[in-house]
Amino acid sequence: MRRCVLVAAFGLGCRPGASTEEGAPPSDEKAGASIDRTAASASATPDDGGQPVAGVRPGAREPASKDPDAGTGSPSTEPDPLTAPPSRSSSIGSCTAGRLEGGIALPLAAPGLSFNPAKDPGSRFGTVELVGGLVRAASAVERASPGHALTVGDLSREAGGEISGHASHQSGRDVDVLFYLRRESGEPFVPAKAIPLDPEGRGTDYGDLADPADDVPVVLDEARTWSFVAALLADEAAAVQRIFVVEHLRSRLLDEARRVKAPAEVIERFAEVTCQPGFPHDDHMHVRVFCSVEDIGAGCIDGSPIYPWRTKALATAGVEPVLAGSDDDESPKPPTRKPKTKSIAQARAEAGPMHEDVVAFLDRRQAWVKRPHPGRRWCR
Ligand SMILES: [Zn+2]
Repeated sequence: MRRCVLVAAFGLGCRPGASTEEGAPPSDEKAGASIDRTAASASATPDDGGQPVAGVRPGAREPASKDPDAGTGSPSTEPDPLTAPPSRSSSIGSCTAGRLEGGIALPLAAPGLSFNPAKDPGSRFGTVELVGGLVRAASAVERASPGHALTVGDLSREAGGEISGHASHQSGRDVDVLFYLRRESGEPFVPAKAIPLDPEGRGTDYGDLADPADDVPVVLDEARTWSFVAALLADEAAAVQRIFVVEHLRSRLLDEARRVKAPAEVIERFAEVTCQPGFPHDDHMHVRVFCSVEDIGAGCIDGSPIYPWRTKALATAGVEPVLAGSDDDESPKPPTRKPKTKSIAQARAEAGPMHEDVVAFLDRRQAWVKRPHPGRRWCR
């Protein structure tokens, strides 16, 4: 329970057995997307889907090693996301009230990628477009800079629908990925959990919150993280709609993109799709992809925003997006529940002893909880 404090300190709650997750969706989603801010139940926090924070892994099941094929990749009977036809999968409905048909599993391990062993392997299903995009992007990072696997968290259940700890992640188009991290020595650090990072890109794997002896300082690996998002954004099949990430890490990644002289259109796309929602996303990124052209025909419903480039691409394909909340959206609406929250003081008291560095970090973290208002068109 003590490890829950980094979540609980926000008053977002942290209950035994709950998949403690992130905050509310950005306001530009709420009008049309019918997002249930209270997530799956009172045992989950409001979110747009995400990872537990700083060692909080409630709800996590046995590691993937339970699987007979774990360690060498996914079970051999699972189809290959790189060769599966996109028509295999259909994302039906919206990300917050939807389902998944013909979903494909993210491999437990693939070049440059591993599904977080602390997470439920039953929550690694997505559309062929999303899963293929993740595998391709992680593989590209591995080729360019070997030796550091991306840790991927929840996607959707095999048939989609409600998933513990997330309001979205229902229709195979959402995924949480951890940042690539390094130790202070520069060595890759593969996180087993989400670690919040400050405006300098620094964080700490605190382990036991009361014991400073087991703390491991880590820093954001801007080069690999940028390389991954750039590859994903350039993947036309995946068609990224959103990357939820805290503003200060967005800025660091933009700096990195300019440093490596990334193509202007990729930088522009990243700047456009990134947004900090109600929960700051300082410990992972949540990526959402658009409904594919085929899936729109099958009943896939996009939330806002639909960028001009997307409208143009769909028009070329002869389809129009169906927007959540529009007259064309006939999907069932999730019930609205009031989020259960607790005060920061209450949460901290329940979290138990913490050494002074943890307390200091939590104090500093308040500075970036509030969503910034940078005046961007697609992120308000
Ligand atoms: Zn998420």
